[in-house]
Amino acid sequence: MVMKRIANKNILSVKPYVPGKPIEEVKRELGLKNVIKLASNENPYGPSARVLTAIRQAARQVNRYPDGACYYLGQELAKKLGVSQSQLIFGNGSDEILVLAVRAFVSPGEEVVVARPSFLVYDIASRLAGAKVKAVPLEGFRYNLPAMKKAVGKKTKIVFIGNPDNPAGTYVTRDEVQKFFKGLRQDVVVIFDEAYFEYIDSKDYPDTLNLLKKHKNIIVTRTFSKMYALAGLRIGYGIADPEIISLLNRLREPFNVNSVAQAAALAALKDSRYYRKLAGKFKQQREYLYKNLARVGLRYQKSAANFILVDVKKDSTQVAKQLLKKGVIVRDMSFWKLKGFIRITVGTQQENKKLISTLEEVI
Ligand code: PMP
Repeated sequence: MVMKRIANKNILSVKPYVPGKPIEEVKRELGLKNVIKLASNENPYGPSARVLTAIRQAARQVNRYPDGACYYLGQELAKKLGVSQSQLIFGNGSDEILVLAVRAFVSPGEEVVVARPSFLVYDIASRLAGAKVKAVPLEGFRYNLPAMKKAVGKKTKIVFIGNPDNPAGTYVTRDEVQKFFKGLRQDVVVIFDEAYFEYIDSKDYPDTLNLLKKHKNIIVTRTFSKMYALAGLRIGYGIADPEIISLLNRLREPFNVNSVAQAAALAALKDSRYYRKLAGKFKQQREYLYKNLARVGLRYQKSAANFILVDVKKDSTQVAKQLLKKGVIVRDMSFWKLKGFIRITVGTQQENKKLISTLEEVI
C-alpha cells in the first residue's frame, strides 16, 4: 500500500482501459478451435500484398532506430492530404496523439469537455493530466454540440469530438460543426478524432482539413489501424497548424513510431485501389448485418463506421459471455454504462454469418 500512497494522485481515479479479448487468449482459456473477433473494430481482411512485402523488407533493418520524423511517410501523406509536412505528427497509434494533445494543453485543475458515452481514451488521458472531465450526454446516440459548447467554461482547454465516435457510431455534420465554431473561444482546442474517416461516405460529413485553414485551434487525428488494417503495428497521425505540431513534438518521444509501421503505412498509402475495394466489401457486409439484425428482431444504431451498437434487450454481459463460449468475441457495453447493449465489428461474410446464427442461438 506504500506504493499506492506515493503514486501520482491523478492515476488513482482512472479505471484501466479494458481492450477486447485477443483470439489466442479465448482459444486457450475456453479450449476452442474456431474463434472470431468482432470486438475491436479491426479490419478483418488484413493489409494488401504490397504492404506485406514492405513489412518484410523493413524487417531486415530493425537493428536500426527508425526515422523519428517519419520523413518519407510524411512527404507522401502531406501530398495526399494537401497539407504541408509541418502540419503533420505521427504517433504510436492515434491514441498517442490524443494523449500528447492533452499533455500539451491541459494543466491540473483545468477542464476538458467530452460526450458521454464516448471513446474512453479522452477521459483517461484527461484524468491522468489532473483535468476535470465535463461529460455531455448524447441525445439519441448523437452528439449534442450546442450543449457541449455551453459546457465550455473559463478553464476548458479541450473539446473532444469523436467523429464518428465509438461506441455510438454516429457523426456530427458540417452544419453542426459550423454552428459550433460560431462564438467559440479561439483558445480552446477542438480535437476531431477521425479514426474511422476512411469508412465515411456521407456528403454532410465535415471537411475538417478545410476548417483548419480558418481555425488554428483544431487538431484532426486519423489512423492506419482501421481501414488500413495495421492496428497491430500501431501508427496514427495528427493534422494541425504548425504551431500546435511543434508543441506536440516537444513531448513526443524521439522514436515513437517504429520503422516497420512507417514502411507499412507508406506502402498502404500507395495502394489505394486495394483499400477502396475493401471499403466496398465492408459496406455490403454492414448492410448484411443491418438486415439480419432486424430479421432476428434486434434494434441497432445505424453507424458511419465499421461497428454497430446493438440492443440485445437482455443482460448484455451474459449475452457477450455466451457468445464468447461459442467462439464469438463481441464487446459488452455495460462498462460504458450502456446496459443491454453490445458492440459488434463488421467482419467478413463468413464471420458475420456466424455472428448472426450464434446470436440467434443465444437470444
Ligand atoms: N479513436 C477512436 C474513436 C477509436 O475507436 C480508436 C480505436 N479503438 C482510436 C481512436 C485509436 O486508434 P489507434 O490508436 O489504433 O489509432
